[in-house]
Order: sequence, then C-alpha cells, then structure tokens
Amino acid sequence: KADSTLTIVVVGASGDLARNKIFPAFFALFYDDQLPEDFTIFGYGRSPMTDEELRITISKTLNCRVDKRENCHDKISQFLKRCFYHSGQYSSEEHFLELDNRIREKEGGKISNRLYYLAVPPTQFVDVVRCANRRASSDNGWTRVIVEKPFGRDSESSKKLTRDLKQYLNEDQIFRIDHHLGEELFENLLVLRFSNLVFEPLWSRDYIRNVQIIFSKDFGVEGRGRYFDNYGIIRDVMQNHLLQLLALFAMETPVTLDAEDIRNEKVKVLRSIKPVSIEDVVVGQYKGYTEGNMSVPGYTDDPTVSNNSLTPTFAAAILSINNSRWDGVPFMMVAGKALHSKRVEIRVQFRHVPGNLFNRNFGNNLNNATNELVIQVQPDEAVYLKINNKVPGLGMRLDRSDLNLLFKKRYPREAPEAYERLLLDAMRGERRLFIRSDELDAAWAVFTPLLKELEQKKTAPELYPYASEGPVGVHYLGAKHHIRCVNFRF
Ligand code: NAP
Repeated sequence: KADSTLTIVVVGASGDLARNKIFPAFFALFYDDQLPEDFTIFGYGRSPMTDEELRITISKTLNCRVDKRENCHDKISQFLKRCFYHSGQYSSEEHFLELDNRIREKEGGKISNRLYYLAVPPTQFVDVVRCANRRASSDNGWTRVIVEKPFGRDSESSKKLTRDLKQYLNEDQIFRIDHHLGEELFENLLVLRFSNLVFEPLWSRDYIRNVQIIFSKDFGVEGRGRYFDNYGIIRDVMQNHLLQLLALFAMETPVTLDAEDIRNEKVKVLRSIKPVSIEDVVVGQYKGYTEGNMSVPGYTDDPTVSNNSLTPTFAAAILSINNSRWDGVPFMMVAGKALHSKRVEIRVQFRHVPGNLFNRNFGNNLNNATNELVIQVQPDEAVYLKINNKVPGLGMRLDRSDLNLLFKKRYPREAPEAYERLLLDAMRGERRLFIRSDELDAAWAVFTPLLKELEQKKTAPELYPYASEGPVGVHYLGAKHHIRCVNFRF
C-alpha cells in the first residue's frame, strides 16, 4: 500500500547465511519487482561495520537471473542504496532502541511493517526477539519474525524455545523456516496428488507397497562440522525436511489450500506416525581412505569435529503411519552425507499386478517389474513413472520404460531460489510453507525417543567409505521390510 513501509532487519548480517542466501534472495525479489515500493533493509550484528562496508560485502553475492542481465548493474546499485547496517549486541534493548530510531527515520511516519530474519545461532533467538519486541517493533502495522531451523534438539528443548518465543510473539508472528520447504517440489507435490485423477485413487495401502524418501549428498562436512556435529543427520534433515515431505505425501486432502487447512492435515498425519524404533534404524558415519596419492578425510578427521564423535552422517529409518490409508506400508527414509551421488527424491513403489498374466503366459521375468513413481528434486527436478511395455517386433517381449517429465526441458526458465519464495510468503503473511508449533511438536515426537536411545546407548555408527553407497546395514533393513535394495544405489 502507498501509505505503508516495509523494513526488513537481517539479524546476524555478517554471517554466511545472510551474505550468501538472504541478501541475494531479497535482491532477486527486488529485481522481479516483488518488494513493495517503500522498503528498507537493515543488517544488524555485533561486528562493527558501516553502511558502505555492508554494501561492499553483500554486493559480491548479488546477481541477476541468467535470462535478464541487461540492467543488472543499475538494479544492484538501486538495491544497495536501500541497505543499511546497525551494529549492536543481541541482548541489548538499548541497541535495539537505536535501531528503532533509525528505522523510524526511514519510515517517515507511514504505517510501519517490520520483518526480522534471524540469521544467528539459535542461542540468540530469544534475546533478539525480546529486544526487538520491546524496543524495535512496529506500533501501527505488523511485526513478523523468521527463524531458521534448528528448532531445538528434541521435544523438550523445542517446546522450551516455542514457550520462550511466545513470551514476546504470537504464533502468527513466528515464521519457522526450513528452507527446503521453499523448493518447487513441495508445491508440486500438492498439485500432482490433488489435481491428477490418475494418482490420488492409488495413493494408499491398497496399491502402494512402500515409499522411499531419499536425501543423499556427495560431500561431507568439509570444515563446517561444528554445527553438524552437535545435531547429526537425523536432526539436520530427517526430523524436519524429510518428515515434511512425508507429511505432504501422506496427508489427507485439505479442505482448501489455505495455510491452516494444509497444516491441520500435516499435523494429523504426523501425529499418526509411530515413534521410530531403534530396531528399524541404521546409523552410519563416513570414513576416509587413501588410494595412491589421493587421500580423502573421514568425518572424525575434520578439524571441526571431535575425534571420537558418534554423530551419524547417515541414517536410514522405517516409519509407519498408524491410520487406515497407510497401515502396513513402510516409509523408508534414507539420508546421508559423503555418498557417491547427489540425489533427493521420493520413490513410490506400487504393488504387483494381480494375476501376473504376462509372466504366466510368456515366461517373462516380471517379478520385480512393479510400477514405480519417482518424484525427483535433485540432481534435476523430474517426475517419472516406470511402466512395462512391449518391445516392438514379433513375439511378446516386455521391457521397462519411463514416462518422464524433466522440468528443465519442459520449463527452461530458471526457477526462483527456495529462499525467495519463502521470504515473499512471509512478507505477504502466507504461512503455508512455514511450520506451525503443533506441527513441530508432532515432528519431534517421532524422533525424540530414538535420538535419546542412540545417545544413551552410545550407539556406534556403521562406518562407510567416503563416496560409497553408505552402510551395508541399510540393505538388511530394506530386506526386513520387503523393500527392494536396488533402489539404494546412491
Ligand atoms: P554464522 O555465520 O555462524 O553466524 C551468523 C552471525 O551470527 C555471525 O556472523 C555472528 O555475527 C553471529 N554469531 C555467530 N556466533 C555467535 C555466537 N556464539 N553468539 C552470538 N552471535 C554469534 O551462521 P550462519 O551460517 O550465517 O547461519 C545462521 C544460523 O542459521 C545458524 O546458526 C543456523 O542456526 C541457521 N542455519 C544456517 C544455514 C546455512 O546455510 N548457513 C542453514 C540452516 C540453518 P556478529 O559476530 O556480527 O554478531
């Protein structure tokens, strides 16, 4: 609106996340004319920095989309003129009051909307929120706060964080971000499921044998293990990102596409998942090796990781959903670092065709050839369906083929970064892709007993070589639940 202003405060502006992701995402929105006419961005942090120094730092990471470069330089300088920096402590109300004065100067008496992005370690969240709420929140518009995961380490610490934040904020002011939720797949999953008649009727225990949710990275912590070593792969990826994928995949049809309707359905399905049992889990950790002149460091060789760390860099877990749609269908989550490929996907394996007509009449070996739907996020976004078809020619020979939708071929235009979508949604007050507190509680309840047991028992992870297919144990786990191991080739 013409009579309102938007002030964005990036708290922790000197950090990696702010520099590499948050400022570039705001710039991309500015470039696409998605920011309001009257906006200002403040970086805030303890590091001493002038406005100009901030501009120089962030200018190095701003760039325009490949398909429209002409006025890039002008746009960057217009954007940088709107960026300022205020140096202060995270727990100082006085410093936030100074920030407030500077913001008010820019607002010029218009209706004030303020969006805080907390790009600081979670230990600082509550202090920042307290100071911002008391000294630098809007008094005539909205104030919203985006917090980035991790939201605690288990059910108790997560609930405490929520309680502490809610001393100063209402739930509808808190935007809990898991940046993977801004990826195309999350939106697309809803469209695929609920706008195609061919999928939804098959989406149940009657037709689906198992579902695999796979997250594999082809690099290790590489000097950035301080954060990871304290959390491990289950907290870093499974409890949030993969569980969100599972919830969207398995939830019932929401009443509407409104955020609360979607989040209600996600909570319902999350609460139906049985807490993961240690018998249904394999944990692993990558180890180094030397081959000729080349030597690859293992996880515990990393200088940012403790030498005797038991933190899993790989985990596979079987999850069961205790409701009528999914009773008896194993959902297998697999996540790992330092595997031999980069891959993020959901694989849906369908049941056998009853009667097995072709196998019986023509001696074809189709025992394993069930249909499979793959929804792939990385390396390339794609949706493909594995089907059986006849090989052209005399006789009846069968083959497997893919019906394949490769997004970059069908839609060559570059897609926005996950952060862009999420920041825009937060500015618009759209909460669909942000995590509600009861959703967070339900997600922690699935993994907290397992995490505690692993830590209490000091379970040693199974070692696997860097750039391999992961621990062998995952194949036994798959076999125990009748899941074909051929799919775990990372
Ligand atoms: P970072 O560089 O370690 O920290 C960001 C800024 O916070 C630093 O520049 C520093 O600013 C301040 N800070 C760092 N440690 C602090 C401490 N112990 N006490 C008070 N202030 C401290 O982290 P980041 O990579 O930018 O990420 C920010 C947060 O986002 C992380 O803590 C993590 O929780 C979350 N996160 C990050 C990523 C990512 O991709 N990097 C992904 C997921 C989640 P000043 O010294 O100027 O105050």
